[in-house]
Amino acid sequence: MRYLLSIFNSIIDAIFPMECAGCGRNGILLCETCIENTQRAPLPEHAFINAIFDYNNKTIKRAIWSLKYKNARGFAEIFAPYLYDEIIGALGNELFISGGENILLVPVPLHKKRHRERGYNQSELIAREILKLDIAHIFSYTPELLVRIKETKQQAKYEKRNMRIKNLRDAFHAPETLKARGKVVILLDDVTTTGATLVEAKRSIRHLRPRKVIAFAVAH
Ligand SMILES: [Zn+2]
Repeated sequence: MRYLLSIFNSIIDAIFPMECAGCGRNGILLCETCIENTQRAPLPEHAFINAIFDYNNKTIKRAIWSLKYKNARGFAEIFAPYLYDEIIGALGNELFISGGENILLVPVPLHKKRHRERGYNQSELIAREILKLDIAHIFSYTPELLVRIKETKQQAKYEKRNMRIKNLRDAFHAPETLKARGKVVILLDDVTTTGATLVEAKRSIRHLRPRKVIAFAVAH
């Protein structure tokens, strides 16, 4: 099946050649000029959340949409270096305090049903690209730390803020057996809007007693 899918994707690529999500230039998903022209995300309202690009930017919106729904997995590789730099910067002294195994990298999970439908989790793809850049082995990849146990609706723009929070309540489960006590947990997501998902994810790992939880999103 995967083999067939990859043949299918090659055919699609041949019919619709890659073009920059910003300027349409051929042969690249997102060119450097277009990335450099995008603005920095406004500050998320929760201090533990960090975001790189402005989600109001059309290019970024298109890129993330393609990564999420159009199987354009290459965007994960494009975004990863920005996240990597951001995480390293945010860790600061933490890098010296915490050794390699004490900084856990956790992509925000999808519910297994949605994961199956989509075939991949975009945040996981980004996390794996970050790991490729992590030649110093700063991060310990622990996606199993967080499980999505509740199927949440796609969060529509018009959805009321409190509905969103209610919708996400108890969406995640963090198995007791995993050792996060005293460690730094880095949550990773593609987009953050109200921060509700990341706040709920943070809340669900609280009982594991991590020393610190920080979150990073490609866009806000
Ligand atoms: Zn471009």
